[in-house]
Amino acid sequence: MDLLIDVNVALDICTQRQPHALASALAMEAAKARNARLWLYCGSTQTLEYNLYHHLKHENVEAGSTLPNKAVLKKTRQLLSDFANDKHWLAALAGEGPVFDARDPEDAQLLNALDRFPAGSIRLLTRDGDLLDGYPDKTISPLAYCEMEPPKPKLAFIDLAAQQQIIRPELERNIHRVLHHGQYILGPEVRELEQRLAAYTGAKHCITVASGTEALLISLMALGIKPGDEVITTPFTFVATGEMIVLLGATPVFVDIEPDTCNIDARLIEAKITERTKAIMPVSLYGQPADMDAINAIAARHGNIPVIEDAAQSFGATYQGRKSCHLSTIGCTSFFPSKPLGCYGDGGAIFTSDDRIAQACREIRVHGQSQRYVHTRIGVGGRMDTLQCAIVLAKLDRFDEEITQRQAVARKYHQLLAAEEDVRAKTPRRQEAADEQNPLSALASLRETFRVLPWPLEDRTSVFAQYTILADDREALQANLNQAGIPTAVHYPVPLNEQPAYAHLCCPDCTPVAQQIAKQVISLPMHPLLTPADQNRIVHALTPPATDPNG
Ligand SMILES: *Cc1c(COP(=O)(O)O)cnc(C)c1O
Repeated sequence: MDLLIDVNVALDICTQRQPHALASALAMEAAKARNARLWLYCGSTQTLEYNLYHHLKHENVEAGSTLPNKAVLKKTRQLLSDFANDKHWLAALAGEGPVFDARDPEDAQLLNALDRFPAGSIRLLTRDGDLLDGYPDKTISPLAYCEMEPPKPKLAFIDLAAQQQIIRPELERNIHRVLHHGQYILGPEVRELEQRLAAYTGAKHCITVASGTEALLISLMALGIKPGDEVITTPFTFVATGEMIVLLGATPVFVDIEPDTCNIDARLIEAKITERTKAIMPVSLYGQPADMDAINAIAARHGNIPVIEDAAQSFGATYQGRKSCHLSTIGCTSFFPSKPLGCYGDGGAIFTSDDRIAQACREIRVHGQSQRYVHTRIGVGGRMDTLQCAIVLAKLDRFDEEITQRQAVARKYHQLLAAEEDVRAKTPRRQEAADEQNPLSALASLRETFRVLPWPLEDRTSVFAQYTILADDREALQANLNQAGIPTAVHYPVPLNEQPAYAHLCCPDCTPVAQQIAKQVISLPMHPLLTPADQNRIVHALTPPATDPNG
């Protein structure tokens, strides 16, 4: 449970007013230990300063000190700034201004501000008896907070809240800017984001679109993909990759994957090229680019077949020093909230250095319109809205740092898990040794069987959209983790060519590696702010100590 700090509690701590200061300080410590957030209301800044200043002045007079007012003010600000240092600032919103008919306007503001949070997730930390009595569900005293049962630690698969905490000032400023200029469609943030992302990848053009799926659709439309055409792609991906091909009436031709990267196996592509092949669409899965140069070379040998990189998971990754999305004819990415660079809704982008393709994409994005009410081609309503662009912009400055953090988290997983693998390889199975005949022991040993995927290849980097391992008995592993409160996901349980809507398009057994890998993959919690302590907890839960089969 988070806390909004009332002015009296903040002042207790800053003034060291006993006995209150002790309880308040303990509540701060308890909050920290519980990983709860401590908020200060922006609207309280002046009240804090005013009250603390007068308290210190009064104290000085009492003590017979002749400290000049300027020095008292300086001390006031220093104390407040130290106090606020590890707190979060909660913006004061317009609706919280007119509280003059309230008995206590300041209290009314704080209580109103709580309504923005999900019920029960936050309380006002106060020692004001009237508030505590009048609003027992919205308030709590420092002592009562210290005595509360701490919640069971829960782990997020992707902790967007932790990221939001860091970028809140930029986020709020950017969102408010859009509210004030009012250009919700194709506003200035759209252009700014496109310029910054193009510069980031090195591609000449960036066209933001409504989603990653829309990016794939518009790219295929810009290439003129139509019924009867074939598009070579991987079956081991999110459904949208194959779906957009089928939506246009074209046929996805599924090529099997490499077992180490889980990306399309470039060596198998050439055999699938026919005169109907109009595009090749590799996916840079889990954040690691596919073997793009090998694929580009094959495409070039066969009359320059366009190559679309589905980089929905790999924005920010590199391949031979170049950025994903700028590795082939077209790159498509997604700003779905859980992607490495996400917005707070749907969004995506298309990258290309081909002027004609870029122009086509821009037109298709707005109903094939080349000028107002001149529709030169068939298009879609596929724009990314200004607010979502403003949100991505707020995240962009920290993005490279987040990639570094993701890679460090992945490295740590890799080391912890490889060490576990090693131990298991060297020690005979405890329970097998104990009881060869017991079927439970066989099951238990299976439970512990997992393998890490190889570290990304030397000529590329991954942004680790997912940290995925392989398990022989995935369900048992998931159950272990679930029991320990650790969420997992499966990317993806069924290859596209085995999905009911796609099975008729491809022989189901023609991609045996994808078929096998899909049964084994399991993704662990992954985000830039995952702590080493949580990672230890996760790996520990993955390999629980053996239980005695007889006990
Ligand atoms: C997420 C994803 C998409 C679709 O992106 P949306 O923004 O959700 O439409 C497409 N391909 C892959 C590989 C993805 O991971």
